Amino acid sequence: MAEQARKALVTGAGGFIGHHLVTYLKSLGYWVRGADIKDPEFEATGADEFLRLDLRRPENTMTACEGIAEVYNLAANMGGIGFIEKYKAVVMYDNVLINMHMLEAARLQGVQRYLYTSSACIYPGYLQRVAEVTPLKEEDAYPADPEDGYGWEKLFSERQCRHYHEEYGLETRVVRFHNIFGPLGTFEGGREKSPAAICRKVALAASGDEIEVWGDGKQTRSYCYIDDCVEGIYRLMRSEHRDPLNLGQDRMISINELVDIVSGIAGKRLEKQYNLNAPQGVRGRNSDNTRLKAVLGWEPAVSLEDGLARTYSWIEAQLRAQGRLLGRAQPREARQAVAASP
Ligand code: NAD
Repeated sequence: MAEQARKALVTGAGGFIGHHLVTYLKSLGYWVRGADIKDPEFEATGADEFLRLDLRRPENTMTACEGIAEVYNLAANMGGIGFIEKYKAVVMYDNVLINMHMLEAARLQGVQRYLYTSSACIYPGYLQRVAEVTPLKEEDAYPADPEDGYGWEKLFSERQCRHYHEEYGLETRVVRFHNIFGPLGTFEGGREKSPAAICRKVALAASGDEIEVWGDGKQTRSYCYIDDCVEGIYRLMRSEHRDPLNLGQDRMISINELVDIVSGIAGKRLEKQYNLNAPQGVRGRNSDNTRLKAVLGWEPAVSLEDGLARTYSWIEAQLRAQGRLLGRAQPREARQAVAASP
């Protein structure tokens, strides 16, 4: 029993947060099974066992949950704002199937605790229409008006976690992430989020170049470093709090400021070219961390500047290893879009 209590499943273990979470759980002495449709992109998994499974299929979720005490369900088909706005049907289809089958398999396999990773995208659009937005509290989720695809799926799955506890007694935890970033995350190809995209563009640009910003750059967000994210997930899993909980920083900045911080880290002076026709997501968003602090007695600690410096240096090293930083950046690459996060 004691041995079983230390067996964890991380789904989405081939992805950004899941990969870091596997490493973190291993450092705590867990036996970890990772599951994903793909291997981690940038380094080998630290999991004891890694299963390549399509978790939209119920039989695969049963395999993934077998013998497991704690499920951390991070698998999702997702990306930055451009991706989730373009692929609403596929995102909702895939993610509803993954989360419904994962919950049911966890119940049938006698899992003790189940964590679902939701998103700040569940918050209503009508509360996020200005850049100087009021930070979002957990209870602001209703009356519902979430992001029109990915956000609806997250809100629906949050609800199903609650019902699985009410009807079956499954111990569910629900975390709402606010823009997690850090090394070992996708930084190009269309699924990357704003911090990674900005780091890439700044690294590829030479001083005096222009980089394209989606929107007017005045839209606001808050950003949370990956080390704080995995620690927060673990703390929530240990807590008795079953209602959804924000996990993010509560320092709100604009995309323009984000670009300036990264340019400063790189020691480059760059011009911004605004693309007002590109998708921008909500106008403003910030996390209210009152409940996070009350429930966990803790809050994210890594500063945005420190987190971005670590992320920039990792992305720059990746580009250098690919031979893409040898000369001056090619104008076509340097001018590709810098998107907001969803
Ligand atoms: P990610 O895209 O890096 O990882 C998700 C992983 O899920 C990927 O490796 C993908 O291959 C896997 N996956 C997709 N479909 C699958 C399937 N059918 N079967 C098995 N695996 C499948 O994303 P991430 O940033 O690590 O996000 C992890 C979780 O956190 C997701 O649920 C996401 O919605 C949520 N989230 C992330 C953020 C953020 O800022 N990164 C913000 C809010 C919510």
